[in-house]
Amino acid sequence: MASPDPRRLSLNTATVKEQWTLAQAIEGCARHGIRGIAPWRDKLAELGLQKAVSLIKAHDLRVTGLCRGGFFTAKDWLDDNRRAIEEAHELQADCLVLVVGGLPAGSKDLGKARERIRESIALILPEAQAAGVPLAIEPLHPMQAADRACVNTLEQALDLCDALGEGIGVAVDVYHVWWDPKLEEQIARAGRKRILGYHICDWLVPTRDLLNDRGMMGDGVIDLPRIRGSIEAAGYAGMHEVEIFSERDWWRRDADEVLRICRERFASVT
Ligand code: ZN
Repeated sequence: MASPDPRRLSLNTATVKEQWTLAQAIEGCARHGIRGIAPWRDKLAELGLQKAVSLIKAHDLRVTGLCRGGFFTAKDWLDDNRRAIEEAHELQADCLVLVVGGLPAGSKDLGKARERIRESIALILPEAQAAGVPLAIEPLHPMQAADRACVNTLEQALDLCDALGEGIGVAVDVYHVWWDPKLEEQIARAGRKRILGYHICDWLVPTRDLLNDRGMMGDGVIDLPRIRGSIEAAGYAGMHEVEIFSERDWWRRDADEVLRICRERFASVT
């Protein structure tokens, strides 16, 4: 399989969040020839939305996603999601990534939580569409169903999309979905229309932390070329966003080294 086009590489800023501010990440991408960026909203708030918009524009980067909206089972979800939509609009982001939220405190009712998520997305979807912001549901690995997202498979996310209609799709993050026996059929089902983002990293064996022990592409067990093949066969033509939460390794390294290795591995193992 041919290497992916290096111009399709994007950096999710979580990958260097301990080392760099958003301004540094934008400049780092430009320096390393990385053409896309996906900022997190805490870093965006630090820099200021308008400054971020002009810096991203000055370096001609594409915003492959804004992280994140969602958490629909939290108390202040509506205002927070409205702000996120506005920010994604200003950034002209390809999508607003939704991490939908887990069980409300004290609840054991997964069905009810999932129902609330569907209703909440239905409420904000017209506002997102009016703002020209596609919403991307990111199914999360089931180990995070309780605390972060109780939408856990691509099939479940696509069923939600089908129920909700236009203006919504999915972010396919290999870390969360690589194990799924229905992955390929569901990627094909999603097609170009529903796949709004593609996130890459690797699954380490052993994994030492549920959230912050992701691996660099090539260091784990995910068959990245195979998944890329499915994504491309489905018609996805967007960017490939490196997203690595790594308390013990990549967050401790020099960020320029991290970006250099991201570029190398993107070309050699994905
Ligand atoms: Zn992701």
